[in-house]
Amino acid sequence: MEKNLTKETAIEKAEQILYKTYNRYPVVFDHGEGVRLYDSEGKEYLDFAAGIAVCGLGYNDPEYTEAIRQQAGKLLHTSNYFYNQPAIDAGEKLLKASGMDRVFFTNSGTEAVEGAIKIAKRYAFNRDGRGSHEIIAMNRSFHGRSIGALSVTGNDHYREPFAPLLPGIRFADFNDLDSVKALVNENTCAVIMETLQGEGGIYPASEEFIKGVRALCDEHDMLLILDEIQCGMGRTGHMFAWQSYGVKPDVMTVAKALGNGVPIGAFLAAGKAATAMVPGDHGTTYGGNPFVCAAADAVLDIFEKRQMVSHVRQVGAYLWEKLEAFAKAHDCVTDHRGMGLIQGLEFGCPVGPIVSRALLENQVVLIGAGTNVIRFVPPLVITEAEVDEMIGKLEKAVEP
Ligand SMILES: *Cc1c(COP(=O)(O)O)cnc(C)c1O
Repeated sequence: MEKNLTKETAIEKAEQILYKTYNRYPVVFDHGEGVRLYDSEGKEYLDFAAGIAVCGLGYNDPEYTEAIRQQAGKLLHTSNYFYNQPAIDAGEKLLKASGMDRVFFTNSGTEAVEGAIKIAKRYAFNRDGRGSHEIIAMNRSFHGRSIGALSVTGNDHYREPFAPLLPGIRFADFNDLDSVKALVNENTCAVIMETLQGEGGIYPASEEFIKGVRALCDEHDMLLILDEIQCGMGRTGHMFAWQSYGVKPDVMTVAKALGNGVPIGAFLAAGKAATAMVPGDHGTTYGGNPFVCAAADAVLDIFEKRQMVSHVRQVGAYLWEKLEAFAKAHDCVTDHRGMGLIQGLEFGCPVGPIVSRALLENQVVLIGAGTNVIRFVPPLVITEAEVDEMIGKLEKAVEP
């Protein structure tokens, strides 16, 4: 490996080398410990973003790190022509935690969404003996950037340059059951939505809405696909957000915190959806290899051992109180939404400058969701004292 570059050189080189689809902040992170990140100049940051809701266990967790170290020295990859023990272990734990019947491991959230869409199409094809089925998706949603996932993403700005996308996708309004009902026809095979909309601005589904969509899917033999990529894995104070509503999806997608930074996602299916695809219908080279599955298995082990979900409930409630107080004290804050450790503050103005100041001047990593919302998705191991510390830094960033 090359010697570490100075920050300025690193940034200059990166801007020449990497395909430019991001405007990045001028920070080069070097390592992390717990909920702290350290940049190439040794500056410490409090992390309230977790690499976009990924690093649930924070950085360099000794038990997690040891598990991936061991697997790295044992076997990384074999292909899906063969069985491997870590995939069985991680899969069994995911099924137990979710009550779903089957799991397919992917390399990312996007690919999990692709698989979910294929299950829906395959299910309807098996039933009707024909294609041309339609899917209902939600406005303001986010499901990924591949053509399939983008096709069900309700954001024109992301979609427009890449049209035409998948045909047969119709968009309803999240939390408006009538708008979903209005789109159902004899070709509809599925409804896909996030249980809690993340990128769109931290909007939890209302209980009435999610139960209504579940009933509608049952009535018309459509699959309910819940995207738990961001809101799953304990983040809402439930292992999966849908478990708080008393509904169960036919297909669920997970990723982000599943691997704690090692790239892994999964789609899970229950009942009739669990047998819709057959050998030859879907595949992946890397997906579910022993290395990434050992990482997910360690995450699932640690979740149970340390009772992460109940920790999230406790600290999430504390974060809620503190952000409520913050919202009351600042006229610029117009709304506060979320559950557990996925919360958002909506401002009456774009939050870009606040997020940037927070990072560069107050050394707290925050991220936006949409233009006007600051999203709080810290490592799940965050403590109440660290919530207080973040609030102090946020105060300074909002009123410099
Ligand atoms: C991040 C995200 C995705 C895409 O996951 P990738 O791992 O980036 O492919 C899909 N759905 C939701 C809800 C997400 O938050």
